[in-house]
Amino acid sequence: MGKKRCAAVVLAGGQGRRMGTAVAKQYLLIREKPVLYYSLEAFEQSGVIDDVILVVGSGQIPYCKEEIVEKYGFQKVRAVTEGGAERYHSVWAGLKAAEAFLPDYIFIHDGARPFVDESILERAFEEVKKCRACVVGMPVKDTIKIADEQGFIHTTPKRSLVWQIQTPQVFAADLIVSSYGTMMEKEQEYLKRGIQITDDAMVVETVCGCPVKLVEGSYENIKITTPEDLEIAEIFASKRTEEKDVKK
Ligand code: C5P
Repeated sequence: MGKKRCAAVVLAGGQGRRMGTAVAKQYLLIREKPVLYYSLEAFEQSGVIDDVILVVGSGQIPYCKEEIVEKYGFQKVRAVTEGGAERYHSVWAGLKAAEAFLPDYIFIHDGARPFVDESILERAFEEVKKCRACVVGMPVKDTIKIADEQGFIHTTPKRSLVWQIQTPQVFAADLIVSSYGTMMEKEQEYLKRGIQITDDAMVVETVCGCPVKLVEGSYENIKITTPEDLEIAEIFASKRTEEKDVKK
């Protein structure tokens, strides 16, 4: 049997308000290349990913095609599509575009996470073939507290069971498309109940109660959110360039 077909939906449709810059965070530069370049490059070089769907903000399709996809020669980017107001709207747009490429599995990835690498993609691919739904993450290093509405500590979860969730989040294509489809139909109901959809595992958990496996990511697989993340990213990017130079 041939390799299962894998599509990556790369999300770059956010505004990055927490960054406080005029330019959306996925276009800020790390070592003179846009944040978004790094994950697209990882997918381009990957033996796991076959097709990439890039989801961008309103009116950004021409810019992204010219300044990112064509400029860096990303051959696997098959479609650039417009996202929506919330992350889950952008995912839904990406999933609908991905269906045309008949994927067996779909990797949903935040374009704001530049340091996804091949070993993470391979681990997630092996796992999703077994259990149909998995998300990349890492055990937390700090103790986590759950607060009450007044800002007092409510509970302290057992640290060994608390994971920080990253992306990619990886699913059998039929499972994620049908879960998102149902969620979008019931969107108003979820909003009324105050349910905030912040990741894809939540959609699968909430809609179909399907178990989602945790897969080890990496502590370098950070999301660029606030200005200090960019300083750390410079260090990780330099280290990777040095490692590549040593291999040459
Ligand atoms: O805002 P947050 O950091 O959770 O965004 C995670 C990823 O989702 C980012 O890569 C961002 O560009 C993307 N996103 C999107 N469409 C939105 C909001 C966020 O594609 N409406």
